[in-house]
Amino acid sequence: MNTKIWLSSPHMGGEELTFVNEAFAANWIAPLGPNVDGFEAELSNVTGVKHVAALSSGTSALHLALILAGVGREDEVICQSMTFSASANPIMYVGALPVFVDSEKDTWNMDPDLLEEVIIDRIKKGKKPKAIIVVHLYGMPAKMEEIVAIARKYEITLIEDAAEALGSSYKGTACGAFGDYGILSFNGNKIITTSGGGALISNDEAAVRQARFLATQARDNAPHYQHSHVGYNYRMSNICAGIGRGQLKVLHERVEQRRSNKSFYTQTLGQLPGIKFLEEVPGSFSNFWLTTLVIDPAISKGVTRENIRLALEADNIESRPLWKPMHLQPVFAGAPAYVNGVSEELFNTGLCLPSGSNLMRADLERVAKIIRNLFD
Ligand SMILES: *Cc1c(COP(=O)(O)O)cnc(C)c1O
Repeated sequence: MNTKIWLSSPHMGGEELTFVNEAFAANWIAPLGPNVDGFEAELSNVTGVKHVAALSSGTSALHLALILAGVGREDEVICQSMTFSASANPIMYVGALPVFVDSEKDTWNMDPDLLEEVIIDRIKKGKKPKAIIVVHLYGMPAKMEEIVAIARKYEITLIEDAAEALGSSYKGTACGAFGDYGILSFNGNKIITTSGGGALISNDEAAVRQARFLATQARDNAPHYQHSHVGYNYRMSNICAGIGRGQLKVLHERVEQRRSNKSFYTQTLGQLPGIKFLEEVPGSFSNFWLTTLVIDPAISKGVTRENIRLALEADNIESRPLWKPMHLQPVFAGAPAYVNGVSEELFNTGLCLPSGSNLMRADLERVAKIIRNLFD
């Protein structure tokens, strides 16, 4: 059997252990501590967002963002349908109703025109949505100028799910820095990892202070355990933050490596009939967390996404269909959805190729050869 090629696996930079060893030497294992403070300050530098709370996951960051936005039972939250389920699940945690919005064809992210139609329709039906969750899927910046303008016009809190987009930007502004709140993920498959973790970022100092408070069991200021709010155990540990500090030192390299994977694939496969890669639009800079393509069987002489995926699998290579939209997921069957067919078509015809920053040239060539062979 050929060696396994993963879709996106952890890639240590070398300095992680230095930070972790420091934590061990000081017995600063848990919780919080100097690595957490350092990681938060460094993330603030990288994103240009003033305040950062390091948390146990991107999902917990989204949960806290919804709480800070005042979302509660019976409220409605607009959410991009083309995403990973973790974008939408926290809407259910707070007892609100997700309202799904389809994508546009340039970035595969939330369609701004449709977003405005949805807001108008929800208001007409009797309820103004409390928040909007926009996602920079696969690291590709969404159309933020339009989306920010709409959120401001209707005075709706904007939450940016930048879990897949650390290192991506639009016209020089980092993904995650446009909204009222941004969230990041350092899960094992993301562009950098803390083995598991996330962050909430915002320029609103009081909001981030409140997030830290809620994330540490909402302990009131008293010598005994005293609580006036429901709290959560959502903070990042000092050990995980140490891994994150080491990873941040190589973030720039990781972005370049993933972008170079994407260039390799477009150069070697871009001319095949019916294959189209997701590309940047003017002004946008993608970390190309994953290289993604769609294939049109009418032009590809019958080669389908599944033909490619199964041929790769037979050679011990992991690839994955594009994320199944939330409005097609059984768990969200009851939620309102405003669709235009774009995300469903992406799901039916799209594939994520192995995209790890630790892939070797020979790995990429192995992937490309198998795909090219299907067209011979
Ligand atoms: C990974 C991911 C999340 C969740 O992050 P976790 O750290 O795994 O909880 C949220 N949204 C998107 C789009 C993701 O890819």
